[in-house]
Amino acid sequence: MALRNILKEGDEALRKKCRPVDKIDDRVRMILDDMAETLYDSGGVGLAAPQVGILRRIVVIDIGDGLMELINPEIIETEGLQEDAEGCLSIPGKSGDVPRPNYVKLKALNRDGEEVVYEGTELLARAFCHETDHLDGILYIDKATKMYEDGEER
Ligand code: ZN
Repeated sequence: MALRNILKEGDEALRKKCRPVDKIDDRVRMILDDMAETLYDSGGVGLAAPQVGILRRIVVIDIGDGLMELINPEIIETEGLQEDAEGCLSIPGKSGDVPRPNYVKLKALNRDGEEVVYEGTELLARAFCHETDHLDGILYIDKATKMYEDGEER
């Protein structure tokens, strides 16, 4: 396993639409391992492959309940609305208020190529939306209704 460098806002890789993974092989599993290690090292709750310069539809999320590895994730159902603060490992020192659905159901493939379905509310629903947006070159700052610098009064 190896730590990967997290790209920062302004890097054009973050604005690309990522291609689906068509074959889940050892290379993909190595990317998943590296992404998880990079996520835990960063202290974040989610990381998308384009953030480490890989333009493939791969995401790792851990909001504190264990690691989720999502290959070709697809949001299949949403419900409700939440608006809360959101940040991004690629945009350090900032956060912003972003409206998101309060419930999200998502399907993806796991590292064995099996279909998995996850449901999440609140922070997990937010992470599903934030990370799948990354795969389409969308950053939360595109959707934020208000931005904050770290340390600024909300
Ligand atoms: Zn992000």
